[in-house]
Amino acid sequence: MAGEAQDDCLFCKIVGGHIPATIVRETETTVAFRDINPQAPTHVLVIPRVHYANAADLAAAEPAIAADVLREAKAVADDEKLDSHRVIFNTGAGAGQTVFHAHAHVLGGRGMHWPPG
Ligand code: 5GP
Ligand code: ZN
Repeated sequence: MAGEAQDDCLFCKIVGGHIPATIVRETETTVAFRDINPQAPTHVLVIPRVHYANAADLAAAEPAIAADVLREAKAVADDEKLDSHRVIFNTGAGAGQTVFHAHAHVLGGRGMHWPPG
């Protein structure tokens, strides 16, 4: 069910400590860790501890936690001393989402192009 840890969810396993990750920040409601396949010098994922399939579902059900995710994305950018950064929520398989637990990608440390591919 939405909000509860899912046995088959990779990011729920990271939240639960069952799969290791390089965690850079933690709050009561969020965990931030380095992406295993970084696409930029800084590539950190910020996730809510609660399980929702994507950021839109999270925002609809738990807007305060969605705000926490955004606040932590900025905190990661500050920690990494990024002049600028990009926050991405891939939402749906067609947009490139592969892990169906809401997450923000925080990317920085290189030039970024627009529009993204
Ligand atoms: P999505 O494609 O769903 O927007 O993003 C999922 C991200 O999770 C990808 O960038 C992928 O590299 C990352 N990822 C997948 N498996 C793992 C893992 O086991 N550990 C970490 N740290 N990142 C992962
Ligand atoms: Zn999950």
